[in-house]
Amino acid sequence: MAASTKLSSFRLPPLPTIGEIIKLYNLRAEKQLSQNFLLDLRLTDKIVRQAGCLRDAHVCEVGPGPGGLTRSILNAGATDVLVVEKDTRFISGLKLLSEAAPGRVRIVHGDILTYRMDRGFADTISKPWDGDPPNLHIIGNLPFNVSTPLIIKWLENIANRTGPFAFGRTQLTLTFQKEVAERLTASTGSKQRSRLSIMAQYLCTVHNCFTIPGRAFVPKPKVDVGVVHFTPLVQPQIQHPFKLVEKVIRNVFQFRRKYCYKGVEKLFPEASRFELTQKMLQNADVDPTLRPTELTIPQFRALADAYAHLCTHEPSLLHYEFREELRLKPLTKQGNKPEDTFIMD
Ligand code: SAM
Repeated sequence: MAASTKLSSFRLPPLPTIGEIIKLYNLRAEKQLSQNFLLDLRLTDKIVRQAGCLRDAHVCEVGPGPGGLTRSILNAGATDVLVVEKDTRFISGLKLLSEAAPGRVRIVHGDILTYRMDRGFADTISKPWDGDPPNLHIIGNLPFNVSTPLIIKWLENIANRTGPFAFGRTQLTLTFQKEVAERLTASTGSKQRSRLSIMAQYLCTVHNCFTIPGRAFVPKPKVDVGVVHFTPLVQPQIQHPFKLVEKVIRNVFQFRRKYCYKGVEKLFPEASRFELTQKMLQNADVDPTLRPTELTIPQFRALADAYAHLCTHEPSLLHYEFREELRLKPLTKQGNKPEDTFIMD
């Protein structure tokens, strides 16, 4: 009884619906900012449930827009909700919400790609890295156009324990285009296995929670949307600097349908390419004829170990970038066969 009374005290007073807020403030969706709104509060409640218990939580919400997801976060019991919104048109509606939940909403008009989240919360909420995650969550129905750069930036922050992860193993509950959500969680051998799968999974436990059909959004995007939950691992599965790991993974996946040695080769300058590729694959005990999608994370760890070992003997290797060399070569001399075209993911 006492618990339900406590929870009901979190609930917001009656407010205009999100649809009414959109009309009231004339909030036409801007394609440029990837604006697709969720008006159904049962759906926003379902997203928020994936974050776990939010009672007394600190939350950073990315791109609150008209505030549907923000309402669900507040109704779930979060007591400190910092919203970061780039589009100034939403600020008045968010202020209305902040007045309905006094002292619980802080509004930042800014860009999440540059916002210093480590300055947004007090140090007192920090938890040791090897303890439980802090009661701080990042939640967002992300703008599609920033979702991939943003998650890569946050993965780097996880590796370095900086930004939102200066507080400990902050959990994230985020939406992505369905295909991106599938890549983030793809297992070894699956069609969707890609650079993003390894980057996310070597640092986090990643869970693809559920799919939201495009028709649930206003306006309807061309794609469906996946809700993904991330919890940073206490021990990353690969223990090398993020930049080195990223370089190995990126090169291996350069030719995702070919044997993995084709990508490994591109880590090395032409003169030593054959010899060092052989050495690296042998030291890592990885079969050169496996496809990048067939490699497990322990095999990527072995590849990163072998590459790091070669770099300690020849530090200039660390700065070698095949693409840079390719960019500098005149097109006619590249000798690039069509099947060597890069496939980005
Ligand atoms: N959270 C709302 C919802 O679920 O209905 C809106 C989601 S909409 C897909 C993405 C939101 O992110 C928009 O409000 C947009 O203005 C905002 N946004 C876009 N780029 C941003 C950025 N770089 N930083 C912060 N907010 C951004």
